[in-house]
Amino acid sequence: MAILTFVEVSEGKIKKASLEAAAYSSKIAETSGAESVAVVLGEASADEVSSLGKVGVKVVYHAADARFNTFNSKVYSKAIAEAADKASAELVVLSFNQNGKFLGPRIAVRLSAGYIPGASELPVLEGGKLSAKKNVFSGKASATYQIVTAKKVVALTPNSFPIVKGEGTATVEAFSPSVSDADFGVKVKSVDKVTGTIPLTEAEVVVSGGRGLKGPENWWMIEDLAKEMGAATACSRPVADVDWRPHHEHVGQTGITVRPNLYIAVGISGAIQHLAGVNQSKVIVVINNDPEAPFFKAADYGIVGDAFEVMPKLIEEYKKFKAAH
Ligand SMILES: Cc1cc2nc3c(=O)[nH]c(=O)nc-3n(C[C@H](O)[C@H](O)[C@H](O)COP(=O)(O)OP(=O)(O)OC[C@H]3O[C@@H](n4cnc5c(N)ncnc54)[C@H](O)[C@@H]3O)c2cc1C
Repeated sequence: MAILTFVEVSEGKIKKASLEAAAYSSKIAETSGAESVAVVLGEASADEVSSLGKVGVKVVYHAADARFNTFNSKVYSKAIAEAADKASAELVVLSFNQNGKFLGPRIAVRLSAGYIPGASELPVLEGGKLSAKKNVFSGKASATYQIVTAKKVVALTPNSFPIVKGEGTATVEAFSPSVSDADFGVKVKSVDKVTGTIPLTEAEVVVSGGRGLKGPENWWMIEDLAKEMGAATACSRPVADVDWRPHHEHVGQTGITVRPNLYIAVGISGAIQHLAGVNQSKVIVVINNDPEAPFFKAADYGIVGDAFEVMPKLIEEYKKFKAAH
């Protein structure tokens, strides 16, 4: 049996969420006697691709084809299904990140496979069936789903499985999926990227602001602390709705889901729709001047105080701490 992981690259670099998915597959392979195989679509260096061996991948099918450098769910799902057939994979694993949410159902349809979107723990394999836990009701509960089909697809929630690196090197095999130019359907004509910032979904630390900051002119507090900590910035939905911040920073039920090691919420009340996107963070710090703010119930650490007094002090103290360490 083989387990195939779809490993996404961005500008030639493996995405952290995909590395987690590959480590997850390798762990399942280790306990079930299967082989951990990965597929990489798009240009990346041989060193980068073979480094997947460090998380237990034995073989990588690499389609180093520039046409795959931009994400396209139609051709990606076709190529991944082809790789699954090539590896005789019973299980395909991918990240439940933005692109994974598009891909998972398409791959499952192509393989006639059962699909678990957003698994949060290692699965149990028994009698040809696969059971895995996932969070439901915006993270308020968990449920165990079981796949009963011969082929299976599991999308792993980002930041739910640790990356433990060893010493291995994966064997890289050139892979030429049978996709024609016509298969692409849509062509990306140009891409304007936000530069110099850490992508929210990849960030280990996130500093986030809400309506309590009163206006966009006060966002320097969030940005300064984020810059010092090497963090990404985020915001609540109303803040993006009134254009204080761009919509790609909005976290929550209707925005991005994050699971960083540290989430610092400043002037955010902690409405259930906001918590749905952040409550899986490892450590939550809340700064709010209302001791009754609901966010404190979800917080590991809380500071009851005026953000306009607390934040400048916090930034100052963090700078001192950084200089001393
Ligand atoms: C269907 C639906 C989907 C939604 N999806 C989302 C979503 O994805 N993400 C999301 O964020 N929201 C979402 N919302 C909105 C959500 O219900 C809340 O209205 C929103 O999260 C509140 O944003 P906020 O905490 O920034 O603002 P507020 O609720 O206005 O809270 C501001 C907080 O700042 C504190 N504060 C005020 N002044 C200061 C100060 N000087 N110092 C420190 N603290 C201060 C206040 O005590 C208060 O707790 C959704 C709502 C609906 C109905």
